Amino acid sequence: MNTPQAFTSLRGWLRHLAATDRLALIRPGVALTHELAAIAKRLDGTQAALFPQPGGHPMPVVSGFMSRRAWIAEAMGVPDAQLLQRFRAAAERPLPWREVARDAAPAQQVVHPFGEGEGDIRTLLPIPTHSEHDNGPYITAGLVIARNPKTGVQNVSINRIQIQGRDRLGVLILPRHLHAFFAAAEAQGQALDVAIVIGVDPLTALASQAIAALDCDELEIAGALHGAPLPVVKCTTNQVRVPAEAEIVIEGRILPNVREPEGPFGEFPKYYSAREEREVIVIDAVTHRRDPVFHTIVPAEMEHLLLGAIPREATLLAHLQRSFPNVSDVHLSVGGVARYHLHVQMKKTREGQAKNVILGAFGGHYDLKQVIVVDEDVNVHDPAEVEWAVATRFQADRDLVVIAGAQGSALDPSTSIAFAGNKPPLEWQGFGAKMGLDATKPIRSSEHVFTRVRIPGESDVDLATAVTATGTAALTGTSLEQA
Ligand code: MN
Repeated sequence: MNTPQAFTSLRGWLRHLAATDRLALIRPGVALTHELAAIAKRLDGTQAALFPQPGGHPMPVVSGFMSRRAWIAEAMGVPDAQLLQRFRAAAERPLPWREVARDAAPAQQVVHPFGEGEGDIRTLLPIPTHSEHDNGPYITAGLVIARNPKTGVQNVSINRIQIQGRDRLGVLILPRHLHAFFAAAEAQGQALDVAIVIGVDPLTALASQAIAALDCDELEIAGALHGAPLPVVKCTTNQVRVPAEAEIVIEGRILPNVREPEGPFGEFPKYYSAREEREVIVIDAVTHRRDPVFHTIVPAEMEHLLLGAIPREATLLAHLQRSFPNVSDVHLSVGGVARYHLHVQMKKTREGQAKNVILGAFGGHYDLKQVIVVDEDVNVHDPAEVEWAVATRFQADRDLVVIAGAQGSALDPSTSIAFAGNKPPLEWQGFGAKMGLDATKPIRSSEHVFTRVRIPGESDVDLATAVTATGTAALTGTSLEQA
């Protein structure tokens, strides 16, 4: 692990982006409905966007501050090539958090109690409406923190949160850890206390997406990524501990035996997920920094995709290397919505191994739909290189693996075709096929059949000294100068 570095708060990271010309200040007062998300989407992957007075609201909104892989590596203080190893090391060796007193917690500098007729989330926070058919404003960058009712250990996840009313939120809870905690509470007729944390540093946001075991507190992974225990503070109305450096915290409870319609909402596959009856959170208080900034993630854009991709890649690489130590790198492609299509790089030592790797990868995560295995000379992070390997090293009759009728992502709309595009019954959701492509070359082949064309010295060329002039000056003094 490397030494602690500076970016342990969102505002620290935004100052760094601004100092390196990666933060765009948007004109004041853009509309919260669609306009804000439209501008953020256009800047996605190039600059973070800071929106003062969005919709006339005094609280600024920021988006897109972790929309490049290299920026996330930079926040970790490692070269791009070490990003996955660094995340994996932190996930394997979490660092317990450190509780601080309320007066040492900027996240609680301002407290808004919610009660009978008191407090209104709709006016307190500048919450954008993102996509065309979204049901309305959504909190898309809220880290939901809850405690296991049985053990007290916390869990962190990002759940999409719909604004239902003054003190009421709708939430999508997929069948993972938060779901298990709430099911345990609900079985006892109890509400589950939660905190929704908005505006954290990039590494804490990334840690929330770790594919970790139940009762692994993702805030401890954030501490390991920072190289120092994460300072946390106890909520003002419940026992949940939240990052003390957070911009905004919504404290509340998931109500037992209550479901209300949530959705539609434009999700990561760039399609809408349907309106359905889902869990409801009632708000007990909102705390925030003095002059807080609200973070929104534009769905399906790079910030959203990378948050999901990097922890998944780190987990899949670890999973594959347990059985196949000659696997050297993996990449979840952007075109595959950073979930469905995996590129695997390996140094094949026996014929047939790539197919074992394909089968192993599908066992690593049910979302995977397509796996392409390439040799160690192919850069898995470059889609053109991977396609070149398929074009020149793959034959469908010999190198294609199809597994019919397996479980996949319920959000992949092509899995509903057998149901005439209607949402399938629960037990058929995500039912579909897997495809694996072995795009590795044979270990032994005749001379030059698989020798990649290369020009000696190309990687050593220094263009700064090789190029002496450009534009019309490029012709000065050459035989081409006169027409
Ligand atoms: Mn978890």
